[in-house]
Amino acid sequence: MRVDDKNREGAVEDQPENSVSFSEQKTIIKALMRPRTNRDDYHTMSREQQVNLIRLRTGHNRLNAHMNRKFKLAPSPTCACGQEDQTAEHILQRCPLLDEERKEVWPSPTPLQTKLYGSRQELEKTTTFITSAGLIV
Ligand SMILES: [Zn+2]
Repeated sequence: MRVDDKNREGAVEDQPENSVSFSEQKTIIKALMRPRTNRDDYHTMSREQQVNLIRLRTGHNRLNAHMNRKFKLAPSPTCACGQEDQTAEHILQRCPLLDEERKEVWPSPTPLQTKLYGSRQELEKTTTFITSAGLIV
């Protein structure tokens, strides 16, 4: 028993070398407290806007293509226009049923990449389009 106690004491004495110093702790905590920087502008948007964008970006959304293939919760993956699967790309870029709303937000053709990963201003347009089109994504 005494030998075990001594071994334990020895182990404890070795530990301070491996522990995190006070200044390191300060650095780590400061980094965690710092607000997220704009690696991506979506972090500065409202929670609802963020959710919509993430759903459009990932394809994990309530559009027919995902709801039908993944959950069988939509009768068909096809959009109401009947032309294509209802995906984020389809509604943002091509759906003829949303031409009016699309032209209102994007008077000239805009790449999908810009609509989903562009500047804050571009991302705002995308969420405005979703709202004005009455879509639930
Ligand atoms: Zn369509």
